[in-house]
This record gives sequence, structure tokens and C-alpha cells, in this order.
Amino acid sequence: MITLQDALKSGREILTENKIDNGEHDAWLLLAFQFKISRAVYLAEPLKEITQKDYETYLDLIRKRSRHIPLQYITGEQEFMGLDFLVREGVLIPRQDTEILVMEALKVCKDKEVLDICTGSGCILLSLLKLGGVKQGTGVDISDEALEIACENAKRLRVTAEFRKSDIYSQVNKKYDIIISNPPYIPTGVITTLMEEVKDNEPTIALDGKEDGLYFYREICKRLKDYLNPGGYVFFEIGYDQGEAVKKLLTEAGMDDINIIKDLAGLNRVVTGRWNEKKGEPFT
Ligand code: GLN
Repeated sequence: MITLQDALKSGREILTENKIDNGEHDAWLLLAFQFKISRAVYLAEPLKEITQKDYETYLDLIRKRSRHIPLQYITGEQEFMGLDFLVREGVLIPRQDTEILVMEALKVCKDKEVLDICTGSGCILLSLLKLGGVKQGTGVDISDEALEIACENAKRLRVTAEFRKSDIYSQVNKKYDIIISNPPYIPTGVITTLMEEVKDNEPTIALDGKEDGLYFYREICKRLKDYLNPGGYVFFEIGYDQGEAVKKLLTEAGMDDINIIKDLAGLNRVVTGRWNEKKGEPFT
């Protein structure tokens, strides 16, 4: 006879042997996922019998994780802003750090039109639409796979959003009140130093910010005023060491009120700016 506890024990052993970060916790999360049980249900009856078939299925999940496949690609989901997002290979897994970017935009996005560049899973745009009273939202990405997943997420969250294939602005044909982006921002040379879960499993196209990591900020800033309404806002997530460089790009693009915002670890994480055409006049 095999019990839930036996399965968990084997899962933990395999992940620990394979030196998976947080392996013990991941063994539990995969058990919860496979058997659809809460911690309370498990603790009430750890010796509950499971079938050999279910045990094998659980071990298959564990073996995937031991090959450094991110947990979220195995379970197919990631929570972001308290909402459940579908994820799979082909799209960047939403990060908790990016919630800081969304929270900044939430302060001003009510009744505004929002363009999310490099939308990926759509997590930024869809969170703003779901939680922020946004009037209209467009998400663009160059990846067909990402756009497919973003559309599925919109449907799951019952949100109306427009997703369009576009190389940055190439297929954008109107102006927005808010431009927001968490673009790929890792310098190409740094990608090989990332953890296996990221560098070998998440799409390089979603990570690679070219030579100095700043390619997308530069391209977005170059034509910012063609796509932003006067009085509009811009929000970028950035790498910890990119604050000053991105601030400079926004200044050169004619933005005002530029702020660098830190994450909980005290690292620069978000840069915001505003096109304050008539300085002093509040934008409503
Ligand atoms: N905007 C998406 C996110 O924040 C995807 C970002 C990316 O692919 N670099 O998760």
C-alpha cells in the first residue's frame, strides 16, 4: 500500500538529491496539485492510500521538476496580483517583483487607455483591466505563443482586452494615456549566468535585452511621444542597475516627473515618468 505521505517522502528525496532549490516545498506543492488537496486535508490524513497509477503520475511531475523545469510550467499556473494566470513554455512566468509595476500604474489608470508593450502572458495589462477600471487595454508582443496565452488568460479572467502581434510599435496605430512595459532587459552576456530554471526553460526572447540590456527601453523611448497622449504616463520595470540609464532615456524622450521606485529588497525596480506638456496643470 502507498500513502500520500510515502509519495511526499519520495518526492522530497528526489528533488533534494537533484539539488533543486526549495525542493522540499516544491514536492509538497506538486502533491497538492496532483491530488487537489490543501495542507489541512493532507495533515488530517497523511496515511490515506493512493493508487499505484497516481503515485507514478506524481513521480513523473517530480522528475520533470528535477530536470529544473520551473514548477509553474508543470502546474501550468502562476498567481499574480491575486489572480490566476495560465503559463506554459513560450511565455515568461509572471514575477512577484512585477506586482510593484502594476501597483504604481493602478494609482492612475482608472478610465485611461493603456498600451502594454511585450505583454507576454498578459499579466500586467489584464491585472490593470481587472483591478484598475481601465477604459481600454492593448497588449502587444512579437511572440505568437505569448499572444495565444494572453488571449486565453483574458478569457479565463473574463476581461476584454486587445492583443496584437507587433514588434514594439510596428502595428500600433493610436495614442494611449499610459504606456507600460516589463520588457526583456537582461544583457545577452548575462543570460548564461542565470539559474537553470530560467536560462534553459524560459524563452530567451523574453529575457534578452540585447548587448547592454537596454534595447527595448531605447526603442520605446525613441518614439514615445508618437504613441503617448500629452499628460500621459509611462511605467517601466527595470533591472536593479538600470535605473539611471532608463531615467536618462525618459528625460531625453521629453518626459517629466521621473521617479525610480525600489522593490522590497531595496533595489531599483520601476521607473515612471509623465509627459507633462503644460507643467503645473494636473492631468485628469
Ligand atoms: N510583460 C510580461 C511579464 O511581465 C512578459 C515580460 C517579458 O516577456 N519580458 O511577465
